[in-house]
Amino acid sequence: MTRSPVWHPFTQHALEPPMKRIARTDGAYLVDEDGTAILDAISSWWVITHGHRHPDIMDAIQRACETYDQIIFAEYSHEPAEELARGLIDVAPAGLSHVFYSDSGSTAVEVALKMALGFFHNTGRPRSRIAVMENGYHGDTIGTMSTGERGVFNAAYEPLLFEVDRLPFPEVGDEQVTLDAFEAACKSGQVAALLIEPLVLGAGGMKMYGATLLRELKRIAERYGTLMIADEVMTGWGRTGTLFACEQAQITPDILCTSKGLTGGALPLAATLCAAEIFQAHLSTDRRKTFFHSSSYTANPIACAAAVANLNVWRSEPVGERIATLAELQRKRLAHFDADARFANVRQTGTIAALDLVAPSGGYLSEVGPRLRAFFRAQNLLIRPLGNVIYLMPPYCITGAELDRAYEAIAEAARLLENGQL
Ligand SMILES: *Cc1c(COP(=O)(O)O)cnc(C)c1O
Repeated sequence: MTRSPVWHPFTQHALEPPMKRIARTDGAYLVDEDGTAILDAISSWWVITHGHRHPDIMDAIQRACETYDQIIFAEYSHEPAEELARGLIDVAPAGLSHVFYSDSGSTAVEVALKMALGFFHNTGRPRSRIAVMENGYHGDTIGTMSTGERGVFNAAYEPLLFEVDRLPFPEVGDEQVTLDAFEAACKSGQVAALLIEPLVLGAGGMKMYGATLLRELKRIAERYGTLMIADEVMTGWGRTGTLFACEQAQITPDILCTSKGLTGGALPLAATLCAAEIFQAHLSTDRRKTFFHSSSYTANPIACAAAVANLNVWRSEPVGERIATLAELQRKRLAHFDADARFANVRQTGTIAALDLVAPSGGYLSEVGPRLRAFFRAQNLLIRPLGNVIYLMPPYCITGAELDRAYEAIAEAARLLENGQL
């Protein structure tokens, strides 16, 4: 067999088996070329919300293909982008007034950072520092890596990364430490924005914190004129139990980033929403105050049509009920692991469930992660632990019986590991 020229993401090709090829996707499943169905318990890296190939979204894509391909998005606009922007403003926390399109979570965050710095620059009070939370993840471009947790993932690029103010993760009972650290950073008068994943820090290990803390952070930000950027790239579109996680804290961030579930997971698209004052700061007869940002594929009409169809799915189907049901199914199954000494930090926010396998050594490079992945793969389950953190973030169409399969495999993996058989 000839070797594939494809270089896969987050993949050590020297250690991984050849990639299994997927021929088709359907609901909660990936189906490989031999016809084997693999249960997608992590929504294909957190993008699929309702299930693979929701018929209304696929239909909308097909219809859009009959009239559009890419259209330059400076000087021109188009109905899918206009309709989507209106729809997003409608469903987002009240007070966000403008929508800037790009094509991935990373670019949505880059846009947010530039909006924040541009806001202060254009209003003659330049600020240049960004505050973030420990264990955060905001993407893999140089700017977003700078704001994320440092480690083996970005060691090679460290010399090019900019410095940020890092707030300790709010451990239960110690939340004040985080708030005090934020306030201390704000006192410099230099913090343009707090960039934060609301309620759940995804790639940093599915670490969860409460809505009260998020609301307190917003209050401090307001006091010091610091903007809040909510990175809802993962938490958006129902994952945490509400459409956006910020709703649970009853806050409106100054800037909100959304991507992954924006098209239901069907096509790449991102949007950065902002408050009127941020748009206003860039509105001027002085061209130097223009927001200087673009991606070639900004507001791709077919992707926008998919996102409009996704909004319609949210309007016309009982998605909220499905999410509540899934959260309940997760809660019941997770409860069995509460008293299990082989697991720690059994936790849940909305549809996302996570638990830490108590292993001799933690960390992403500990060999337990790859061995667990291989074990789940052999069971035709797509579950990718983050080091020793096992989590399930399923599409909303998953059934209780399908979840049982995933949880039984998790329990079996712990048993094998305990007996030195994994
Ligand atoms: C996935 C993710 C990103 C990056 O999104 P990409 O589309 O992979 O660039 C940014 N922020 C958060 C919170 C994410 O989970």
